[in-house]
Amino acid sequence: TFYLSQIEAYNASLNAFLEVYSEEALDKAAQIDQKIASGTAGELAGLVVGIKDLLCYEDHRSYAGSKILQTFKSTFSATAVQRLIDQDAIIIGRQNCDEFGMGSTNENSAFGPALNFKNTAHVAGGSSGGSAVAVQANMCHVSLGTDTGGSIRMPASFCGVMGLKPTYGRVSRWGLIAYASSFDSIGPIARNVSDLACVMKYISGKDSYDSTVVSVDEISKSAPLTSSKKIAYIKEMAEHSSLQPEIKQAFFERLEYLRLKGYEIIPVDFPFVDALLPTYYVLTTAEASSNLSRFDGVKYGHRTEVPVKDLLDMYKKTRDEAFGEEVKRRIMLGTFVLSADYYDAYYTKAQKVRRLIKEYTQQLLKVFDFIVSPTTSTTAYRLGEKTLDPLQMYLGDLFTVQANVAGLPAVSIPMGEDSSALPMGFQIMGDVFQEEALLNLASELV
Ligand code: GLN
Repeated sequence: TFYLSQIEAYNASLNAFLEVYSEEALDKAAQIDQKIASGTAGELAGLVVGIKDLLCYEDHRSYAGSKILQTFKSTFSATAVQRLIDQDAIIIGRQNCDEFGMGSTNENSAFGPALNFKNTAHVAGGSSGGSAVAVQANMCHVSLGTDTGGSIRMPASFCGVMGLKPTYGRVSRWGLIAYASSFDSIGPIARNVSDLACVMKYISGKDSYDSTVVSVDEISKSAPLTSSKKIAYIKEMAEHSSLQPEIKQAFFERLEYLRLKGYEIIPVDFPFVDALLPTYYVLTTAEASSNLSRFDGVKYGHRTEVPVKDLLDMYKKTRDEAFGEEVKRRIMLGTFVLSADYYDAYYTKAQKVRRLIKEYTQQLLKVFDFIVSPTTSTTAYRLGEKTLDPLQMYLGDLFTVQANVAGLPAVSIPMGEDSSALPMGFQIMGDVFQEEALLNLASELV
């Protein structure tokens, strides 16, 4: 009831939850009380979880922040959601996000943006904006978000909470409405490191519905826990011209603190900084244009009600009516880079550059245990500040996309506030399956 009363008090102004399962949550809580009394409760008994609107939950709606999925109810639950439910966690509602996860401010949600609890003139970040604000405003204990190019870490940073994007292949994507399948990952947003670790423990691991997930055994074989305490930061990022001076200062203060604690801190060059965003946006739009072709007015959700000439006309009208501007932009970009004449120039090339970025980053992680950076170059934007210029919006993802391009785990933790009292974030990236090491370092910094 505590979280429901917080939702009651704040959701109307913050728009974090699109739907709250109040009665159901209370019923579940009563059942769990009984289970606790009889000693049969699961290990997450009573943990109150909010889920991003991109995750499926059996017999519940998932709209992916889009009009095209309005009326869609899922017949099954995402593996990550189900594993929490199996341990008696309570799902309290579904949370606002950018349409299909495409955005950095939550302003691309068809249901209006989630606002930052610190200052409602500012955005919550995106695309898991509702999930971050819900934790920030204590409307749930933890949230499950998704991160394709920073969507867990960026809103966590803007809202002063923590978010972990796991290694690609650590958490099943079954039941996650796909944006860019080779980048998408599900992860937790919470207020402290132990909650992140606790959720990870249950949502990770092999799943027969997602063949890209690696089993726990394989993880321990391939990833011995490191102990050498070497941390790199990429000079081109730490000195980047877009970096807000207060963020730069706070970042170097944290590095100094770690140095005093015995870590070796070393600036390194990364020759592909300028290639990160183009590679990310070419490949994710390509994958999105393919993934979103399933929304055609036949299989799921919305279908146009205006008279149509034929099937093709129905597809066109449905998609035209129900997709937002950013989603249409990305479908067009993705279709273009995949088109026969341009495939080699854009898509194939971006795949090659992705490989280079991945290999170079992994080389660095053979020498260093962690690569750190600010999570974002500025604190939360004012509402509307970036919406007119999509390129400016994309630039905000500069520090977060590397982890997704390379498939690596990364966590964002709070790094104090700027002079306008807006939260800043510190990002730690590590080698594949080093989530535990990331969280250990994180706990030294908070
Ligand atoms: N801002 C990025 C994008 O729009 C991040 C998206 C995400 O991680 N879902 O693609």
